Amino acid sequence: MKRIGLIGGMSWESSALYYRLVNEHVRDRLGGLHSARCVMGSVDFADIERMQIAGEWDSAGEVLADEARALVRAGAEVIALCTNTMHKVARSIEDAIDVPFVHVVDVTADAIRAAGLSRVALLGTRFTMEQGFYRERMRARGVETVVPDAAGRAVVDRVIFQELVRGIVSDDSREAFRGIIDALLADGAEGVILGCTEIELLIRPGDVSAPSFASTSLHAQAIVDRAMR
Ligand code: GLU
Repeated sequence: MKRIGLIGGMSWESSALYYRLVNEHVRDRLGGLHSARCVMGSVDFADIERMQIAGEWDSAGEVLADEARALVRAGAEVIALCTNTMHKVARSIEDAIDVPFVHVVDVTADAIRAAGLSRVALLGTRFTMEQGFYRERMRARGVETVVPDAAGRAVVDRVIFQELVRGIVSDDSREAFRGIIDALLADGAEGVILGCTEIELLIRPGDVSAPSFASTSLHAQAIVDRAMR
């Protein structure tokens, strides 16, 4: 088993879920008392969010590249970034390291294709829903994404930043998300990507009347697969 390096803290609420999931996958595969060999670098999310708002993506990329280098120095043999949004700067991380990087979009796209789907709804931060980095990479792997209208995107983004990254999980927000997802399904989406690592803290598979692709769960599984190869 290779040592896993997780770049976390964005937010720590979902990093905690990653930590649990990678350990559960290792336990399920190896049994007994086996658990994941892993190290986590956890950034201060306030710094990263400020850079997101200011559009200082290059600086954020440097911060995360430094974290990746530190994880490799600490023995990490496979690296993953525990946020969808910051995959906007995945290239900076990949260029900084010489160990495999498990990209969340590739993992999620492959799961959608494996399910036989090619047109799905995408929920995430406004950066993920509105900028090209996520949707274009999906398209390159054969998956078309559709996003909520402007009002829906504002709701999803607000719930992520005002609630989920702060550990607030509310029934009202779950209902709001279900309404937004149902509208996209009625419009032809065949499933939905929970494309923000905190959304699966709010929405469970049974909450959606179509296949859902939870990025944290899929990513954690793929990270362990890569570490076990
Ligand atoms: N964890 C979130 C994501 O998966 C949002 C936090 C961030 O902006 O990095 O996109």
